[in-house]
Amino acid sequence: MFTRLAAFAVAASITAPVLAAEVNVYSYRQPELIEPMTDAFTAETGIDVNVVFLKKGLIERIQAEGDLSPADLIFTVDISRLIAAKSAGITKPISSAVLDANVPESFRDPKDHWYGLTARARIVYASKERVAPGEVTTYEDLASDKWAGRICTRSGTHSYTLGLLGAVIAKHGEEAAQKWAAGVKSNLARKPQGNDRAQVKAIWAGECDIAVGNNYYMVAMLNNDEQKEWADSVDVTFPTFKDGGVHMNISGVAMAKNAPNETNAMKLMEWLTSDKAQNLYAEVNGEYPVKPGVDPSDFVKSFGSFEADETPLSAIGAARPKAVKIMETINFDG
Ligand code: FE
Repeated sequence: MFTRLAAFAVAASITAPVLAAEVNVYSYRQPELIEPMTDAFTAETGIDVNVVFLKKGLIERIQAEGDLSPADLIFTVDISRLIAAKSAGITKPISSAVLDANVPESFRDPKDHWYGLTARARIVYASKERVAPGEVTTYEDLASDKWAGRICTRSGTHSYTLGLLGAVIAKHGEEAAQKWAAGVKSNLARKPQGNDRAQVKAIWAGECDIAVGNNYYMVAMLNNDEQKEWADSVDVTFPTFKDGGVHMNISGVAMAKNAPNETNAMKLMEWLTSDKAQNLYAEVNGEYPVKPGVDPSDFVKSFGSFEADETPLSAIGAARPKAVKIMETINFDG
């Protein structure tokens, strides 16, 4: 990260970057998750992609850089981070018929500030030994007594958990959502802790029977010598909302407000929603393509198919403050 960052900081200060065919990306996504795509883009177009990988502080950094920010594009997972970037005033709306055609409406900002590039399903991992086929039904059902002492999950303060609760709020309203979250809490086998994979490990260890997690971790665990055993102890199940489908979240992209290479940045954005890039994303990351008609990888397909819930991500993201409040009120992690 530092080499590349230094390289382009120097280039920006001592050369005239105006004519360079390049795009500058600030990314919360890890290098291995985006480099296969940006490399293929460069090979095809000759446009260089300089990526600054950040673990935190992306918004603050672009704000501090102000008008002179070299950032063209912002890459991140999770709807809440895309909305936060827009709310902070560091993005700008764009107009692209290609993006409008390739990204379904529920996966993009109604005001054209951000666009989903990949989708992930929030699924339920279920013990092969202790959960009967068909026992996992709906998200609503996770609050029912039948799961008492059987559920593991990560923290209620994590974006993935808040995203799911945001969807419950969007579907059923704040009051019902609070009741639901309290019901889930009362069914927990242990206090929320660890990441999504740690929940599958807990099922493997016999601590709980089901866990909520993102779909692509199954692929990652099966490809990991230590974690394969955890993954082998569970089935992937796809709960739905009572009157809907499987809860989805996205990774996405937004144009930085002061993008110095806007034309090339637009090319990269559009290219990332092409069949070629969407297939690459599916193969590399185990996520779902956003573009209609592009299939997930065969590996991901082998876990089964489902209907995605159609609640707009913008509505789910907008419910986040209420979701945070509910988790505090019921002391979900306590
Ligand atoms: Fe993740």
